[in-house]
Amino acid sequence: FFLAFEGGDGAGKSTQVARLAEWLTARGHEVVVTREPGATAIGRRLRQMLLDTQDLGLSPRSEALLYAADRAQHVEEVIRPALERGAVVITDRYVDSSIAYQAAGRALSASDIERLSRFATRGLMPTLTIVLDVPPEVAAERRLLPPDRIESESMEFHHRVRQGFLDRAARRPRAYFVVDATKTPTEITAAVLQRVAQLMDE
Ligand code: C5P
Repeated sequence: FFLAFEGGDGAGKSTQVARLAEWLTARGHEVVVTREPGATAIGRRLRQMLLDTQDLGLSPRSEALLYAADRAQHVEEVIRPALERGAVVITDRYVDSSIAYQAAGRALSASDIERLSRFATRGLMPTLTIVLDVPPEVAAERRLLPPDRIESESMEFHHRVRQGFLDRAARRPRAYFVVDATKTPTEITAAVLQRVAQLMDE
């Protein structure tokens, strides 16, 4: 099984990833928890370039290619080998983040980003993508650390990103589970575990 968590910054993805991993491990699965960008040595360097708060003048197309490079390395080095040995892989962000941030957010063409993502992943898509949906204003209030380069973008940008996630999920409802992430972490976990349990029984 390959599970992806998606959603805006501050939606609570890392908390939910950790809880789902714990639950799956307790049920006897080998679980590999990973994330984008920055899950590999190459990816960590790309992440520095991508999230540097200093303005390096990164262009939208260049940004899209760097995320795709991170993802290609991630799939090759981490995700595919884990899936091949039968592990459950949970990733914090994947292709949909690129559709939401680089296409909807930066106004690049969604079909270009989809093609680029297909190239990067050789077509590997999650069994289920869990979207933690939260209004950007709520997410910004939850932030504890100083904002990174993307988090410093305008509210309009973050609204486009949110809509980008929701539009994707609406197009393929069977492959997506959208959770209202203004709920308490406990409620969100309960909803996620129920959906994943159902998926595993299918
Ligand atoms: O906090 P996290 O590890 O998810 O940080 C990744 C950062 O990169 C976030 O600020 C997120 O908004 C941004 N991002 C992006 N496009 C992607 C993936 C992540 O802009 N495809």
